[in-house]
Order: sequence, then C-alpha cells, then structure tokens
Amino acid sequence: MKNVLVVGAGYAGSVVAREMADAGRRVFVVDRRHHIAGNAYDEHDAHGVLVHRYGPHIFHTNAARIFEYLSRFTDWRPYEHRVRGIVNGRAYPFPINRDTLNQLYDLDLDEEGAAGFLEQAREPRDPVRTSEDVVLNSVGRDLYEKFFLNYTRKQWGLDPSELKAGVAARIPVRTNTDDRYFTDTFQAMPLHGYTRMFEAMLAHPNITVELGVHFEDVRGDFKRDHTIYTGPIDAYFGYRFGRLPYRSLRFEHEHLPGVHRYQETGTVNYPNDHDYTRITEFKHLTGQQHRGTSIVREYPQAEGDPYYPVPREENEALFKRYEELAKAERDVTFVGRLAQYRYYNMDQVVGAALAAARRLLY
Ligand SMILES: Cc1cc2nc3c(=O)[nH]c(=O)nc-3n(C[C@H](O)[C@H](O)[C@H](O)COP(=O)(O)OP(=O)(O)OC[C@H]3O[C@@H](n4cnc5c(N)ncnc54)[C@H](O)[C@@H]3O)c2cc1C
Repeated sequence: MKNVLVVGAGYAGSVVAREMADAGRRVFVVDRRHHIAGNAYDEHDAHGVLVHRYGPHIFHTNAARIFEYLSRFTDWRPYEHRVRGIVNGRAYPFPINRDTLNQLYDLDLDEEGAAGFLEQAREPRDPVRTSEDVVLNSVGRDLYEKFFLNYTRKQWGLDPSELKAGVAARIPVRTNTDDRYFTDTFQAMPLHGYTRMFEAMLAHPNITVELGVHFEDVRGDFKRDHTIYTGPIDAYFGYRFGRLPYRSLRFEHEHLPGVHRYQETGTVNYPNDHDYTRITEFKHLTGQQHRGTSIVREYPQAEGDPYYPVPREENEALFKRYEELAKAERDVTFVGRLAQYRYYNMDQVVGAALAAARRLLY
C-alpha cells in the first residue's frame, strides 16, 4: 500500500494520517470544512480570546500511552474541569457530591452519612435498562428531577426513560467532596490549543491536506490503494437504509468586554432554566489572560451538524446494518465517532485510530 486517502482531519483522520506517513506512505487528507482538527477546532475570536468553535473540549484520559502519543505534538497546561448546576437560582457542585447534598438540603453529612442519605433516597430498579433507571437507582427522585430530568430532555429531546442506561452511567455520584468533573490520571489542555497540536501532527513531508473538499468530489477520480473514512457511515453508503439519527447543537458565542470573570467554574449547567443546557467560559480552560472574557451557550436541536449519536436500541440496530456493508469494503477503513456511530471522547478516538493504523501497517 503506497497511497492513502484520508477523509476527515479530526482526531481519527489526523492520527491515522500521521501513523501512515511515519511508516513511509503518501497520505492525502481531505476535509469538507475549511479547517483541520474536526470538532476539537479552536481559534482566537475577533477579540483575541481562544475559544472552541464547536463547544468546550476538555482533554482527560487514564491511558498514559495516549497522553504520551499526543505529547509528541504539544506541551500541556494542567487543567481540572469543574462544573456547577443551577437549581432554583443557586449553584451546586456537579456531579453530585457530599457538598451538593449538604448545601441543597441544609445538612452536615460526613462521608458515611452521605452514603446513608443516598441509600435512603434511591429507588432500587431491577433491571437497570434506561437512563431513568440508572439515576433513580442511585440518587432517587428528588435529585433526578432537580439535576437530570430536564437537562436530559433538553439535551436529547427525549425522556431519560427513552435513552439507554449508558448515557446517565457516564455521570458519577460521589460521597466525598471531590468536585472535579473528571477523575482521570491525565487532565490537561494543549498549551497553545488543539488546532496548533493538529498542525504539528499533520506537518509531515508525506502528508498533503486539502480543505473545503468533500469526499464525494474526489471519490471516483482519486487514485489510491486504501481509504480511511472518518465521515458519517450512512452518508458513505448513500443513506441506503435511512439516516442514522444524531443530536445537534447550536453554539452561541459571546464576548463580554471588560468582564474579567463571568462565572465561578469552566462550565455552569442550567438543567431547569433557559433553552440552552450550559454556559462555558473559555478562559478557565485555557488560562488565558485577557481584559474581557468569551463564553458559549449550547442549544440542543434536532437539525444541523451531526454531533451526538442518539443511544437507542433501534439506532444501534440500524448502525449494525451499515457496519455489515462496511466490512465488505475491503479497501476502506471506517474509524471515528461518525464512521463508528459511537460517542467517543477524544482519547478514545485517538486509541481507535492508533489501533486502525496498526492493523493496516502490521
Ligand atoms: C459539544 C461537544 C463537546 C465535546 N467535549 C469533549 C470533551 O470535553 N472531551 C472529550 O474527550 N471529547 C469531547 N467531545 C468529543 C470529541 O469532539 C470527539 O471525540 C472527536 O472530535 C472525534 O474525532 P473524529 O475525528 O472521530 O470526528 P470529528 O472531529 O467530527 O472529525 C471528522 C471530520 O471529518 C470531516 N468529514 C465528515 N464527512 C466528510 C466528507 N464526506 N468529506 C470530507 N470531510 C468529511 C468533518 O468535517 C470533520 O472535520 C465533544 C464533542 C462535542 C460535540
């Protein structure tokens, strides 16, 4: 295999491109967007604040191998993400921890007391099938209604009872006072941003990148030995079995001149108020010094760019039908969140891309 076409310059495409180039292959990368880095793309806004165009991206992983791999292309700034959830106008630590319980119910629980409180509050469910089951089973109805129910309805346009258990199972409940959103071993932001990290990854004499190019435009006439496809799998097959459902988002960016700090933590969730789910203030994430600040509000919506695969049984079944077609495409590798119809975090997609490259090379 000498010539490789990579469709998509996000994590999946860029990592495979780099691995193939390091192994001596000629790699041609196309992306339909006019920038690299996929959804992790960051840029300076008109006021000079570094913002994430497609919503806040926080890097976290337990995999030293993946952290070390990306460290070839960037230095890091340590950053531990924190989130507050607004309930009845007050901000509480989220995920729910002991301080959340003490502040919300005016209690003075220690760790054991918090565990006992949750044991009393929970509504045991068996089997635990849906996201509603997961949350009721661990924290009970009051906390479910205050922090989860409406947020989930907004985020997914579905009731938690209509979503697979895995969605809510991502969010822990703690009896200690740890208010970090993630507890992974490695938590850091690329020192000069994601886009710079991607620039370094793609800076290789064997790699050519063309932006603003759709796969469909080069599909028939570009001579190659192999294709790495990181776009939507249903699009690749002309939506033969119908469209895979995605949840989309509208991002409303705003610059606040002269405001040094807008909110206490990087992200604040609004489970019960407004049409947006959360506000993120980028200076927390990036550590940038600036006289003003820039924030983004996220409005979930049905139409628009595909962001989140909707985790329901019937969608999984539809994906499996496309996956069968994909297996028969001998000269194409499907990798990434759109091609595998899977909610991947950044570290997971790097892992999937490294594995895909290894399978092709060895
Ligand atoms: C709002 C939001 C917040 C997130 N926050 C986090 C976070 O905090 N931490 C974390 O670890 N992960 C986060 N993620 C997940 C993260 O964005 C993904 O793991 C990662 O971007 C996946 O990389 P990818 O290469 O698979 O896909 P993408 O980044 O989507 O890259 C795919 C690329 O392929 C291109 N493409 C698609 N079809 C075609 C075509 N036909 N022709 C040409 N090009 C095409 C697209 O333009 C795109 O650039 C978040 C995701 C979202 C939506």
